[in-house]
Amino acid sequence: MNYSAWQILKNGLRGGKNWRPLWHSKEPKKSYDIIIIGGGGHGLATAYYLAKNHALKNIAVIEKGYLGGGNVGRNTTIVRANYLLDGNSQFFSHSLKLWESMEQELNFNTMMSQRGILSLGHSDGQMDSLARRGNMMISQGDDAELLSAEELRDYVPYVNQTDPRFPIYGGLLHRRGGTARHDAVAWGYARAADRLGVDIIQNCEVTGMIVNNKTISGVQTTKGKIKADKIGMAVAGRTSQVADMAGLKLPIESHVLQAFVSEGLKPCVDCEISWGAELFYISQSDKGGLVFGGDIDKYNTYAARGNLPAIENVMEAAMALMPMIGRAKVLRSWGGIVDMTMDGSPIIDKTPINGLYLDGGWCYGGFKATPASGWCFAHLLATDEHHEVAEKYTLDRFEKGYLLDEEATGATPNLH
Ligand SMILES: Cc1cc2nc3c(=O)[nH]c(=O)nc-3n(C[C@H](O)[C@H](O)[C@H](O)COP(=O)(O)OP(=O)(O)OC[C@H]3O[C@@H](n4cnc5c(N)ncnc54)[C@H](O)[C@@H]3O)c2cc1C
Repeated sequence: MNYSAWQILKNGLRGGKNWRPLWHSKEPKKSYDIIIIGGGGHGLATAYYLAKNHALKNIAVIEKGYLGGGNVGRNTTIVRANYLLDGNSQFFSHSLKLWESMEQELNFNTMMSQRGILSLGHSDGQMDSLARRGNMMISQGDDAELLSAEELRDYVPYVNQTDPRFPIYGGLLHRRGGTARHDAVAWGYARAADRLGVDIIQNCEVTGMIVNNKTISGVQTTKGKIKADKIGMAVAGRTSQVADMAGLKLPIESHVLQAFVSEGLKPCVDCEISWGAELFYISQSDKGGLVFGGDIDKYNTYAARGNLPAIENVMEAAMALMPMIGRAKVLRSWGGIVDMTMDGSPIIDKTPINGLYLDGGWCYGGFKATPASGWCFAHLLATDEHHEVAEKYTLDRFEKGYLLDEEATGATPNLH
C-alpha cells in the first residue's frame, strides 16, 4: 500500500482496521548473496540501496534486537551538512540532499524539519573558524550565514546575552540543517527495503563469523548458521565486538553518550543551537519537549547508561546558555553506545578478510549520515569500489596517517 492522503481518509473511515505491518518479520534462509549485520539506520539504508540502486535481490538484514532499538532510536535527531574537511564535507553534503528527498523516496513521513542549525562563537578566534567553516560549506554548494551578536538578539532572544558567562560574538547559521524523527527513519527504510524483497530478521544475534583462509563464508547466529558471499557490518557501538569475531582489531573505542528531554512546553526554541563554549546543543521536538545533550562520558564502556558528572556538565551548559531552562523539568534521560574512531571520522571500507565489509566509526554524528552511509556502503558492497563521496573513509588511513580529524584533537577518541 502506498501512503497518501486518500489512504488516510479511506482507512480512517474504516476504523483503521486495514493498515498492514510495515515489514514482514522473516526467519532466515540458509544462504544469501549479502548479509548486513545490524538493523539500525545504516544497515537498513544499505539493504534498501542495494536492492534499489543495484537491483540485488538475495539480501538479509540481521538484527539482534528489534528495529530502532539501537542508536537510530536514541539519538537527538540532528541533521546537518556543516563539515569543514575535504572528504567529510562532500559526504555530508550528499547526505543532506538525500534527506531532503527521503520522504518522497521512501513514501514515509520521517518528519524532516529544516528548522536551521545555529553554532555560536564566543571569541574572535572562534568566529574566524566559523567563517572558515561557512566558506567551505558554501563552496561545497551548501548554505551558511555568519550572524553578528546583534542579529542573534532577534533570532534567539532567549539566549542570555545580557550577563553571559561566555560572551556571544556571533554565530553560523545553516538553514537547511534541522531534525528528523529518528525511529521513523529506521521504519521507513525497513518498509521500503521489505517491499524490494529484503529479508528483515529480528531477534537474531550474530555470535560468530565463519572465516577460513582469510575469507568469510557466513555467520553463526542464535537462529543457526547462515551462509553469504558478502557480509557487511553496520553495528555502530558494537563494531569492535563484532569485528573481533573475525579476529579484527579496529581503531575504534566504544563510549556512552547521554541525551535528555524536558516536559512538553509551548514552542519556544525554533532552531537547533550549538553552544561554542562547551559541547552542548538543544532543540525542541514537535511534541514540545526540549531535546538536549552534550559530550560523551569520556570512558570506554558497553553500558548504555551514563554517569552523573556528564549530566551535571550538560545542565550547567544549559543554564549558562538560556537560564529560562531552569524552570523546565527533565522528564527522561538515556544513553547510547557510540563507536568513536581515532580521528572522529567514519570508516566505509573492505576489511582484510575477503568478503567482510565495514561501515562504522560514526561516533556521535551518524544519524545525519544515515542515507549517504547506506548509499555508499551499498555501492562498495555491490561494486567493490568506493563511492566518490566516501573514498576518504578508508580503514588504512590510520596506518598511513591520512587522518580526517575535524576537531584537530589527535588520536584521542574521547575528545572528538
Ligand atoms: C544520545 C545520542 C545522541 C545522538 N545524537 C545524534 C545527532 O543528533 N545527530 C547525529 O547525526 N547522530 C547522533 N548520534 C549518533 C547516531 O545515533 C549513530 O551514529 C547512528 O545511529 C549509528 O548508526 P545506526 O543507526 O546504524 O546504529 P544502531 O541503531 O545502533 O544500529 C546498530 C544495530 O546493530 C545491532 N547489533 C549489534 N550487534 C549485533 C550482533 N552481534 N548481531 C546482530 N545485530 C547486532 C544493534 O542491536 C543495533 O540495532 C547520537 C547518538 C546517541 C547515543
